[in-house]
Parts: sequence; C-alpha cells; structure tokens
Amino acid sequence: MHLIVAEKNISARRIAEILGHGKRIVENKDAGVSTYSFGETTTVGLRGHVVEIDFVEGYSNWRSAEYTPRSLIDAKTIKIPTEKKIVSLLQKLARKAERITIATDFDTEGELIGKEAYELVRAVNPKVIIDRARFSAITSQELTHAFSHTTDLDFALAAAGEARQSIDLMWGASLTRFISLAARRGGQNILSVGRVQSPTLTMIVDREKAIEAFVPEKYWQISLDTEKSGELIEVRHTHGRFHEKPAAQLANDRTKNPLVVTDVKSGTKQDRAPSPFDTTSYIVAAAHMGFSAANAMRIAEDLYMNGYISYPRTDNTVYPPSLNLDGILKDIRNSPFKKDVEWTMANRRAVPTRGKKSSTDHPPIHPAGPATREAIGDDAFRIYELVVRRFLATLSPDALWKTLKILFVAGGEEYTATGGQLIEPGWHVVYPFSEAKERILPEFVVGEHLPIKKVTLDEKETQPPARFTQSKLIQMMEELGLGTKSTRHEVIAKLVSRKYVEGTPLRPTLVGRAVIESLEQHADMITKPDMTQTLESHMQQIKESNRTREDVIKESQKMLHQAFDQLEANELVIGEDIRGRTAEEMNLGKCPVCGGTIAIKHMRGNSQFIGCSQYPTCSFNIGLPNAQWGFAVRTDDICEKHKLNSVRLVRKGARPWDIGCPLCHQINSNKESLAEIPSMNDKLAAKILAQHIYTVAEIARSTHETLAKRLDLPLDAAQKLITDAGSVLDKLRRRSECRKFMRERLIPRKGRSSAKILTTLKEMGITELSGLAHTDAETLKKAGISDVETEQILTEAKITYYGQKLKEIGIPAVSLKKYLAAGITDPEMFCNRPTATLCKLTGMSAATVQRHVDLVCTFLNKPLNKPAVKKIPKASAQKGKKELLAIKGVTDAMIEKLSLAGITNTSNLLSADAETVARNSGIATVKIKELQAAIQKKKDTAIIQI
Ligand SMILES: [Zn+2]
Ligand SMILES: [Zn+2]
Repeated sequence: MHLIVAEKNISARRIAEILGHGKRIVENKDAGVSTYSFGETTTVGLRGHVVEIDFVEGYSNWRSAEYTPRSLIDAKTIKIPTEKKIVSLLQKLARKAERITIATDFDTEGELIGKEAYELVRAVNPKVIIDRARFSAITSQELTHAFSHTTDLDFALAAAGEARQSIDLMWGASLTRFISLAARRGGQNILSVGRVQSPTLTMIVDREKAIEAFVPEKYWQISLDTEKSGELIEVRHTHGRFHEKPAAQLANDRTKNPLVVTDVKSGTKQDRAPSPFDTTSYIVAAAHMGFSAANAMRIAEDLYMNGYISYPRTDNTVYPPSLNLDGILKDIRNSPFKKDVEWTMANRRAVPTRGKKSSTDHPPIHPAGPATREAIGDDAFRIYELVVRRFLATLSPDALWKTLKILFVAGGEEYTATGGQLIEPGWHVVYPFSEAKERILPEFVVGEHLPIKKVTLDEKETQPPARFTQSKLIQMMEELGLGTKSTRHEVIAKLVSRKYVEGTPLRPTLVGRAVIESLEQHADMITKPDMTQTLESHMQQIKESNRTREDVIKESQKMLHQAFDQLEANELVIGEDIRGRTAEEMNLGKCPVCGGTIAIKHMRGNSQFIGCSQYPTCSFNIGLPNAQWGFAVRTDDICEKHKLNSVRLVRKGARPWDIGCPLCHQINSNKESLAEIPSMNDKLAAKILAQHIYTVAEIARSTHETLAKRLDLPLDAAQKLITDAGSVLDKLRRRSECRKFMRERLIPRKGRSSAKILTTLKEMGITELSGLAHTDAETLKKAGISDVETEQILTEAKITYYGQKLKEIGIPAVSLKKYLAAGITDPEMFCNRPTATLCKLTGMSAATVQRHVDLVCTFLNKPLNKPAVKKIPKASAQKGKKELLAIKGVTDAMIEKLSLAGITNTSNLLSADAETVARNSGIATVKIKELQAAIQKKKDTAIIQI
C-alpha cells in the first residue's frame, strides 16, 4: 500500500480525488478518522500537529517550591500525542505500508508536522520508504508534478520549526508563570507573556503613550472657491500650513479679485499595476474590505484546502517562471469573472508585475480553480474575488493618468489646483479595490480672469499618530521581524483574547499596559524586538544547516536566564506594581446607593458578582452568571443614564455575552419578578427604584419599619409587601429549581434546545417541580421530550419533589432515603398503605414508621392510618406485654408490630379479627390465628384448673 499523509482531513480527501483520476474513492472510518482509498493508494489527514511538546512531569504545579518559574527554562520536554485516534490510525496504517509520502503544507510548520508524522511512522515501521511531496496548490497540475518529483523530508527546515516551538514554550511558560505569580493571578486571570507577543504588545502600548503625550498644534489653511463654466472649483493657497495666525490673516486679507491664471502645467503619470499578493499585502487588502486578519487567514486557508486558491502563507511577491499563468487564466475563465479574465487575456502585459520579495518556497497567492458564490458562500466568495482580481491586475497593463496643475494669483497671493484624469484605466478595469479618484478640471488659459466666490481661512489642529489597525500592525511586525507570516495574525488574536488589547483600531487595556510597563522597567529585553529578531536569524541558520537546533536553544536559554536575574531581584516591586495598576480594570463606576465604587469581583470556584467598595456598610450588589458562562470583564461603553461601564462575559471559543450596563441589566431582569408581587403598581415600582431597591429578595429581607420609612408606606402595607415578596421569592426559587432539574436531565442533542422545551412547558403551565411531579407522560412528550426521558423525568421529578415535601414534613434524611429507595415517593402513600407494609418495604421499626405516618397524615390533614390506639397506663401496658410474652412464639419485635394493630394484651388479641390484625401489623394471618389459638388454649386450661 502507498500511504499519503496530508495535513488535514479535507486535503487528504481532495488529494485522493485528484490522484485517483476518476477512480472510485472508498472512504473508511476508523474511530472517527477517515481514510480515502483508490487502487493501492490510501490517503489520511492529520489535524495539523498531532503531538505537542510539554514539560516532563512535575512542572504542572505552579506553586511548587522545587520547580520554580525559572526552572522551566532548562526543563526537559517530551512530545505528547494530542490527537490520539489519528496517531494510532497512522501507526496502524504505517505497519502495512510499503511507501509513505508526506504531503503536508509546504512551509516550516508543514515540514515540522511532516517530521512528527515521520517519527510516529518510524517508531512502528523502521524500514518503510518515506518521501515528501511539496506543492503550493491542491490542483491536478501541482499534485501530479509533486507526486512524480518527490524528495526527502527537509530535516533542517523541520529543526528550525522545532527550535521555535521549544523556545516559545520555554519563554512563554516561564515568564507567564513568573509574572502571574508575582501579581498573584491565577486561573482565567493569568498574565501571559511571550516571545513575540510581548514586543508586539509593546508597540501598541508605545503608540498609545505617544497619542497621550501628543500636544496638538494649531495651524491655518486658506482656500478659495471660484467658478468656471458654471462649475464651482476649490483652489488652495500655495503656502499650505500657516503656523502663525497673523501671517495667515494677512494672506487671507490680501486675497482680492480677480483670480488670474498664471500657469497651466499638464502631463501624464503612469500608475503601475499592483504586485502579486504575499500574506501581508493580502491581509491589508482584505482588511480594507472589513475582514479581520484572523478571519482573512481562516477563509484563505479554507479556499486553499478546497483547491480554489494557492497556499496563502507566503513571503513571495514574484511569480516563479514555473508557474503556468496561462493555465490559471484558462482555469478561472469558467468562474463568474469570465469577462474580466477575457479582458485580461486580450490586454495582457508583457511581463507580470513583481514585488520586492522573492523566495523559493511558495509562489504569491493566486487563484487555483474556478469557484462560485453558491458553492462557497458570501464571505469566502468576496475573498476569492479579491484574489482573482489581484491576479488579473498583476497581468494587466499599467494605467495612465493625465495630470493638470494650475497656478493662480489673487492680490499677490498664490493659489493652485491639481487635477487627474484616468485616460487609460489599465488594471483598474479588473481591480476596483484601489482608492484612486479622478478630479477633472475644466480647461484654463494663462491670463484668464476668474471670480472669487468665497475665501476661507480654516483653523485646524495637528492630529496625534493613529492607533494600529490589525493589518497595519501586521505590516509593522513584518518590518521588525516579529513572528512569521503564519503566526502574526494569531499573535494579535491572542492579545485580544488575553484582554491585553481591545477595539478597532487596537488600544491597550489597563492590564496590557501595566504588564508591559512593568516589564520595560525591570527586564526590557522581553519587550524589545531585538531578541526575537536575533532568533529569526538563528532560525534561518538552522534552515541552512549552519547551526544546530540545540545550539540555538542553548543560547536562548542563556538570554532567558539573564532576564530572570533581573526579574527575580525585583519580584515584589513588579507584583505590587501590576496589582496596584490593574485593580482599576474591574471598576465600573459609582455605587448608585452610597456613592462608593462598584467593581466586578471574581471569587474562588468560578463565582463572580458586582459589589460595592463600601461593603459591609453598603450591601449593594448585582449577581452575575457563573464564570463558566464567561469571565466578566469591563468594556469601554458607558451607560448614558447610570454612567457605569458595561460588563461583558468572555469565554474562549464562544461569542462574548454582552451584559451591557450592569444596573440597566439588573433593573430589566428583575422587572418581571417584581411585577409578580400582587400589591405592586407603577407608582410603587418607581418609588422602589428611586430607593435603589432592585430585587424581590431585597424587599423580602427588609424589616417593615425600614421599608415603611423608605417607601413612605403605612406599616401594615409595608408588612404585606414583605410577605408578598417572600412568597414571590419562593415561587422564583421553585421555578429556577425546576429549570435546573430539567436542564440537568435533557441531554443536549442536535436540533433540540432545552430552552425551547422549557418554554413549551411554561406555556402548558408547568414551571415548578410540583407541576412536573403531577403531570403525565403525554404532556411531557408533547413538549418534545423523548419516551425514555419522559419516564425517567417523571419518576425523578416525583422523587425529588415528594422527597422535599417529606423532608419539610420532618422525615429525617436517613429514613427518607429508605422510603424513596422502597418506592414510597408520594406522601399520600403514607396514609393509604398499611403501616406494616411500610415497615416491610423499608426495613425500619414499626414505632419509627408509625411516627412518620403520624407526621405525614397530620400534615396532609388525613385520618391517621392506624386503629385508634388508646392511651393505656404504663402499668397495664407492662402487664399486657408480660401476658403476650408468655404466649409461645411471641417476641419483643412481634409485640411492637402487634401494637400497630392496637393489640396490647392477650384479651384484645383474642377478640380481634385475625385478618385485620394481620393487615395492620404485617404479621401473617396464620401466625395470628396460631397465637389466638394458643391464648384460647391457655384460657381453657386456666378455667379447668379453677
Ligand atoms: Zn455602595
Ligand atoms: Zn444603565
């Protein structure tokens, strides 16, 4: 078998389809992992890296005294499978293979992924032939060529990737741990520091500081409006910016009619067609269309995987001679851009445009096959269109502009106007994404007099530097050698998810800034790009086999140790510094009750809420959903009404959940429940709000004196309000308990939401456990619950609901367990089942059971379930017991059971109906009859003796 190992499942399938040349492809699944076979060939896809490097055991405890953050620098690492199913399938297939071709992506990362596969294969099959196929697009032409010209794996390239991996782990883990521990942060709140991440964040922080330090300067500009052939034309003073107002005013005042044309210069300007896309220029162009860097890369990778475009991670801006440009044009002629393709073919420039960077790995990004909007969806199609049009533009002629510069004079002051007209649109025909605008001026003749319609003296201010957009930042990172084409957008996404930066354009958060400024003060090596640039050059040396991986890692370890010398010496200062400055990041604004500060508080065990700085004097607080639903953070939006910052819940891999203004949220989410209080009306609701009472619970907790005073109510009305609030609160508790009960039992399933079921149940009037316990299977099924679940839910609802009831009634937990286990779930059962049966089922003593039965029946207002036991004096009870014990076969336990049936001595046993006694005592009828016979016999004997 020939096994082909691709980087992802989707590429494995496409490779099989293309290399199979129309043969039937058989898809097999092994533990959820697909393989694709045709003839003697099988393809399998990895999931990028299927192993990951991590420290050897012992380093996972952050607070270990032995394994300090610094010890991570020299810690041994191992490779651990992260995709176990894929690893074991790969090894299973590798045992049977005669040849294995690694067909992962063609770059450093892909080479490393390939090497990981290589090592997994070698571990189980040391002899199999392993080769490597390299291609830049998943198309028939590229694959056919790549698989007929396979080479060896490039171990030097993979080693460079491995070195980067090890160094990133070592820097990231040790520094993150050090800074987080120093600032006493843990869990979701850790402060991450990284080799590329921190210098990048520093750029954003520096820019923000420059903006803050910026002092705007005033300047003045003069322009005037004139008219020619009925068209209003604006012309500008040639001096440009005036920095002194008097000079500007003078020029303004001197400007007098007429405006005379003194010179007309016309010319042409060539407008070069754009160069081919590399990753960075592609991201910049996509950003103009509104795509974030990460999104642009994700879509491009998808398009690559499906054979629509070439590999999108490239530094190359020059088409290699081997690239069949005509072939590509022919292919994409079948796309919706037929007209543009044909225009390009007809107007083809002699040599395609070229950028500054030429590398040998991948060609620039170009289309690889035709796509339609229907096939790939709107967003992907917009990106596809961008790539197609850029490709066409690089093959299209330059554009030509006619330029015009007119000089005027008015009262001795000089003015000018410039115009531009596209006379040969060239590449603009196929590439509408550039911003070139025409300004067409009418014809002017030297000496011509024109009227001045208006002179404008504008006062302006110089502007601070702009914040970075994601695409601008990626360009800057590239210039500084930070990160690689494959990682830059990921680094930015990480800064955002770490809450170090926010917004578009990007600005640092308080934490981001605190961490960077603290590091700058104590170990600026971590925030400067130099060290990471050095590493990039070392990586290059590894790729060229001029240095070994071990050597480079050793040097990096040395650098990091130096950083730690400084950091450890300043640990306390760094910690206090960051802590002090970041406390503010959770503040939301003034407490509506006391004027203190309210802030988000994160507690142990994922609980979080908003509380007041004046606690315990002020008990104002707002509950928040548990942090597992999202970690609460502050955003910059401020509520107009309450002047509070908004709150957002953020969770990895999920859309953020915007709570908005916490007080608006509190008011809105309690509106409904407050309205449930019977004595509530609009006037009272307004009064309550004005007194900063927001929840039913706050009312229920109040004393009637304070409430009466605060709301200006009579005492009895206040008391009623409190009582009402108490019962609403109970109802709310029962409802939320019912919701929780259902959510725990409704297993999430595709196409079914527990929210929907709960709504349906609500419409049916079932909102509490009691309703659930009293409903029937049909109703539950109607709400969309399956047959099996219905049974289980009904039983468990009964157990839970009645269990609570019984507990309230006073049945101790231990006994309750026994009843529930015996199926005695409904309190009614206590009153309509013989006590003896209850004893038998639960194994509890008759006296205990009887006590419970009394409790339940009294609670339910039911007649006591037992023959009325007359209170008998202790002495006669003793006497009766003695009599009974004298009968053969009577035990203490039996006497207790008999007492349940009202039998306390031999004579009432003898006169009782055996069946009734048996039912009420749980003793078999035969036994009762036996006892009665024995008593009768004894009585007869006694008479005879007399
Ligand atoms: Zn307060
Ligand atoms: Zn508000």
